[in-house]
Amino acid sequence: MKLIIASNNQHKIREIKEILGEKFEQILSLREAAIDHETVEDGNTFLENARKKATEIAAISGCAALADDSGICVDALGGAPGIFSARFAGEHGNDEANNRLLLEKLSGASDRGAHYTCAMVLAYPDGKEVEAEGYLYGEITANPRGEGGFGYDPLFVPKGSLRTVAEYTDEEKNAISHRGEALRALLKKL
Ligand code: IMP
Repeated sequence: MKLIIASNNQHKIREIKEILGEKFEQILSLREAAIDHETVEDGNTFLENARKKATEIAAISGCAALADDSGICVDALGGAPGIFSARFAGEHGNDEANNRLLLEKLSGASDRGAHYTCAMVLAYPDGKEVEAEGYLYGEITANPRGEGGFGYDPLFVPKGSLRTVAEYTDEEKNAISHRGEALRALLKKL
């Protein structure tokens, strides 16, 4: 069966192809499948948003569709920015502004605990769904470090590590990431 990934994010697509590659005849991004569709992410949880994206793409394409929704939850901010991680500083996808705002909000905070969450939903055109979640726990550093990854990675130090995720190789990140964990949990259910 053909799988459409409800994303055009190359980081995610590479990671998904590596982990689920053997389960599907062909794996395509939205662009590769020539699907031009933007889901309105108005759910209250990561899982609701991922479910909405996956079911819409499965219905449009008639193929299996995989969608994730992910973000960072910061303890001292009561779990914010959470599902609003991409637009924390207002402008969608402006990583630098998001990171600056996070550091500002945490200035002087002694509790710097945080975790990434990823909800992953595989939806089939007949309405069947498979769901999984993954987490990565750690802390927010005082100064950004590293060039790898994306989003909040230059600020995020996984538990037990001295490096930020932006100082990890792609392989190292995939082995421990919330997205990798959610994908591996989903794979077990297939
Ligand atoms: P989305 O799931 O693509 O909508 O991601 C939401 C936002 O969460 C991204 O724009 C990033 O700001 C943040 N995020 C999700 N996963 C990661 C990650 O692995 N590293 C850093 N930031 C992430």
